[in-house]
Amino acid sequence: CRVSVRAHALHYGSSVFEGIRSYRTPDGACLFRGRDHLRRLYRSAEIYRIPIPYDLEELHEACRETARANGLADAYLRPIVFRGDAGLGVMPGNPAAVETAILAADWGLHFDPGSREEGVDVCVSSWQRVAPNTIPAGAKAGGNYLSSFLVVAEARERGFAVGIALGADGLVSEGSGENVFVVTGDRILTPPVSSSILGGITRDTAIRLARELGLEVAEQAVSREQLYAADELFFTGTAVEITPVRRVDHVTIGS
Ligand code: PMP
Repeated sequence: CRVSVRAHALHYGSSVFEGIRSYRTPDGACLFRGRDHLRRLYRSAEIYRIPIPYDLEELHEACRETARANGLADAYLRPIVFRGDAGLGVMPGNPAAVETAILAADWGLHFDPGSREEGVDVCVSSWQRVAPNTIPAGAKAGGNYLSSFLVVAEARERGFAVGIALGADGLVSEGSGENVFVVTGDRILTPPVSSSILGGITRDTAIRLARELGLEVAEQAVSREQLYAADELFFTGTAVEITPVRRVDHVTIGS
């Protein structure tokens, strides 16, 4: 499996990808909302005019087959579509030079094993999320993760598990690779998709499950101080699944 050093994605970040978990179930290994992840992959590709030379069902089956062929059950699937040797200009000389790959790996918990019960300690990042009229946060593109890298690297250097970035408007956006939920009284708040977030599949599941339980969930702007004053705070995402936050900038959340 070779990638050209001339690959457009290597020079300009022009890849789109997904991270999908597969879980061992009594019926065998199952992808968690695999088709919904792949729908987002096609939307990301559309934004960057990357023609994916396969249809969704083909990629879905290829993801399942990659897990099966590697004997994986509790695993992580990473379908990635990227501009290959399309010419050295930013505007691809050969727009059809598009490569598709699926990586698979065993994977369990993202944070420390205790994080599920005890929560993680996070900070508010000094790095802002990309502004909506710069690079679209709603597309899951390789280049976006330069922003995520800066957020998480700063957090780790300061001794935190991860960072929460504010948007260009100073309001809460998201973590480097996770969406943020705030529980205040009997209301659950989460920043809307217009807050420079990636609209998470896990975020959507959390919203649906909470509503099924009769809880009130609002997608609305969240201010920084609402984090500190929250009764509960949690992250959602494929990697972190649902992980509680214990402290933000050393302020303990709730009890
Ligand atoms: N935001 C960013 C920047 C992410 O990379 C991810 C992980 N894909 C998420 C949010 C959470 O999205 P999902 O629940 O679909 O994994």
